[in-house]
Amino acid sequence: MTTIYLDNNATTQVASEVLEAMLPYFYELYGNPSSMHFFGGQVGRKIRQAREQVAALINAEPDEIIFTSCGTESDNTAIRSALATNLGKRHIVISRVEHPAIHALGAHLVKEGYRVTELPVDSDGRINLDQFARSLTSETAIASLMWANNETGVIFPVEEAAAIARNKGVLFHTDAVQAVGKIPIDMKKNAIDMLALSGHKLHAPKGVGALYVRRGTRFSPFLIGGHQEKGRRGGTENTASLIGLGVACELAARNMEKENTHVKYLRDKLENALLTRIPNSRVNGDRVNRLPNTSNISFEFVEGEAILLMINELGICASSGSACTSGSLQPSHVLRAMGVSFTFAHGSIRLSLSVYNTEQEIDFVIEKFPVIIERLRGLSPYWGVGDAVCATMET
Ligand code: PLP
Repeated sequence: MTTIYLDNNATTQVASEVLEAMLPYFYELYGNPSSMHFFGGQVGRKIRQAREQVAALINAEPDEIIFTSCGTESDNTAIRSALATNLGKRHIVISRVEHPAIHALGAHLVKEGYRVTELPVDSDGRINLDQFARSLTSETAIASLMWANNETGVIFPVEEAAAIARNKGVLFHTDAVQAVGKIPIDMKKNAIDMLALSGHKLHAPKGVGALYVRRGTRFSPFLIGGHQEKGRRGGTENTASLIGLGVACELAARNMEKENTHVKYLRDKLENALLTRIPNSRVNGDRVNRLPNTSNISFEFVEGEAILLMINELGICASSGSACTSGSLQPSHVLRAMGVSFTFAHGSIRLSLSVYNTEQEIDFVIEKFPVIIERLRGLSPYWGVGDAVCATMET
């Protein structure tokens, strides 16, 4: 059985170019980049190059990039730094649809006595910028809105939001873990103070990330230890992975065009075919302002988990809700925030593509999906019995 991997928002395959660049740094070139000798120095130079490659992808300066262990660490560092450098301010603003790296941190901060405003989204998963502006006060230490949603792919107008925040003297962070490498980002053209990214979403390995911190932004480290990252993040560097992240960023810049043409074409072909061939199906989220690779699609009166099990038998990998919440039968907090009805929310599937998917794979999925949904609906006591039952289910 061949694998058809449509779960690239959960994680991606390490690109062969990335793996090749990393391998020498596990075995032959194992020096510590902080060492004074030539053996460590050559690794240090390679890390400088990786920092330049990451910076180039988002048009930032190399010294604005702090390497971290993952997107979650980058997000936590940004928020904690803002709170530590604005000690009198005990309010933060986030959205209801943030990834747990921000959302769960917000809940944690409430327990620590901070006030957290969670902005709602509309039925298409969009934020209201007027409401965002009104939520910022002289007490607000930081506002954090994700660039693109991991479950729906919906893109927030973070550049406009950052301009509003700057006008009000509030720091602005964005969780761009799903956006970096998929859509163009130019940090010279916006007022975003901090931005989080993660290697394993753009064909670098898991366990490596970066935090962009704009020059001049006051910063307080999250991990306190050695002098690595100019004292901004202690801990001996994950050298091979940092080098891999650099190569992945260079590749992403080269593949950006393909991501927004070929990948988008395949996603649209798949989505339109499923919507046409399967009755009572819908796309969740704004279909215009959306990542080119993501489709969150619901099939009424089936369980997303049941679909996953059936497609799994055919070698097709997808996700229901975010990977972090799979295993729980609660509909995702993102779909709930959008007000997606019970019968649709439970039958939601996230299909997320990459530049490595082929049209042949997509045609196979288009052929198999309608049969699977029909079979599952045949087993459902609710399919075809009318609205009365749906109303009872929603209570
Ligand atoms: N933010 C978003 C939007 C994500 O999708 C993810 C991962 O799923 C993260 C943050 C966390 O990144 P990491 O897995 O590198 O900690």
